[in-house]
Amino acid sequence: MTSKSTIMDTNSFSADALDLLDGETRQLVERRLTVLGGAYRLFYQHPVHLVRGEGQYLWDAAGAKYLDMYNNVASVGHANPTVARAVADQMMRINTHTRYAHENIVDYSEQILATMPSEITRAMYMCTGSEANDLAIRVAREYSGGTGIIVSSEAYHGNTDLTSRHSPALGGGQPLDAACRRVRVPSADAMGGPGSLARENSGQAFAHEIEKAIDDLESHGVRFAGFLADSIFSSDGVHPGQAGWLAPAVDVVHRHGGVFIADEVQPGFARTGEAFWGFARHGVVPDVITTGKPMGNGIPVSGLFARDEVLSAFSDRLPYFNTFGGSPVSMAAALAVLHEIQTRDLQQHALQVGERLRTELRRVAERHAGVGEVRGVGLYTGVDIVSPADGQTADGALALAVLEGLRERRLLTSVAGAAGNVLKLRPPLVFDMRDIDRACTTLDETLTALDA
Ligand code: PMP
Repeated sequence: MTSKSTIMDTNSFSADALDLLDGETRQLVERRLTVLGGAYRLFYQHPVHLVRGEGQYLWDAAGAKYLDMYNNVASVGHANPTVARAVADQMMRINTHTRYAHENIVDYSEQILATMPSEITRAMYMCTGSEANDLAIRVAREYSGGTGIIVSSEAYHGNTDLTSRHSPALGGGQPLDAACRRVRVPSADAMGGPGSLARENSGQAFAHEIEKAIDDLESHGVRFAGFLADSIFSSDGVHPGQAGWLAPAVDVVHRHGGVFIADEVQPGFARTGEAFWGFARHGVVPDVITTGKPMGNGIPVSGLFARDEVLSAFSDRLPYFNTFGGSPVSMAAALAVLHEIQTRDLQQHALQVGERLRTELRRVAERHAGVGEVRGVGLYTGVDIVSPADGQTADGALALAVLEGLRERRLLTSVAGAAGNVLKLRPPLVFDMRDIDRACTTLDETLTALDA
């Protein structure tokens, strides 16, 4: 473990705390450590053993009910009956792969492409966000003839060799690709208040940072291939910025012959409320779009969507096969998820509930010196936890104490950002107005206990 907290290490159980666990959980955790070793981190000093879910709620083995404000995979709700039925029905009929013709993959491709800009006309499927980004980097390189990829300074894009090398969030132990450059996302402070000049200029300033990174690549003899970004900048600490903020950066990428890859693993599928896709908030058209997590509500399915001429540079030369990607069952899950989002209008729901949640969280923030800015878009919120002494300095240790306190009070979430001090609130999209009160009361009580 490096001294800097990483995306994998923050909020994780350490085996030194085994003695603190009660009988059954302790036994399970010990058995788990024996067979799985240390690579898979468990959340919390007192790990949670979940056995059942429904909507935005989860139950542990002892029957305690939790409010889930973390899991964006189960975006249309845990144990969603429409998705479960679609998967079970398809599984009972047939599940093969993309070397045989099947309606589901074609139906889904037509429906999902209809939610994207008209320039995006092609679809491919995999099982994870990592695989989608891995292929996206390969496509960007084939199309541009370059190798240089720019990412944000705390980005996470996946666990394959290639994507890990473009994921600084993994910390100092993970070498970055020699052709990878990082750009810092301006802090919310630097972005100024809504509508302020600082905020408008910060889009230009970020574009300038991208330009400098391209110059740096080229001065080292590396041709620029593309910019890979999650438009919420979730692992950088949740910095969605104002709608339109990202457009100057994308202009710069295109002017330099690069590919803009919109990693929609976090912001996609209605999460931001303002649009179905995160990039669409900014009025930009990506060259490649990658998706994952919420796409199948827990069934492993991910996608890559692209402009025809960009993808052709890869697919005219190289075949691609993914045994499980695009299978009739995974596509049945994806079809059911899309149906749920659209028929229940979860995009509008995310917009309304998310705004209200942040309004209420700001009230809690006013009562506690350890809470700084509350920001976000739709049902994706970041809450800065800061040193109560100055109300400013990022306080990762306090954020971890808050997380443990929330867990004790049965609210699940996690943290993000370079200092691990940003509470990341990203519940299933079915989180509703009635949950806001519980969330805010629980946070208020936790902070009050810590203040004392
Ligand atoms: N991109 C982003 C922005 C992510 O947050 C993640 C997962 N945290 C990935 C890619 C990788 O997705 P997966 O874990 O499905 O491989």
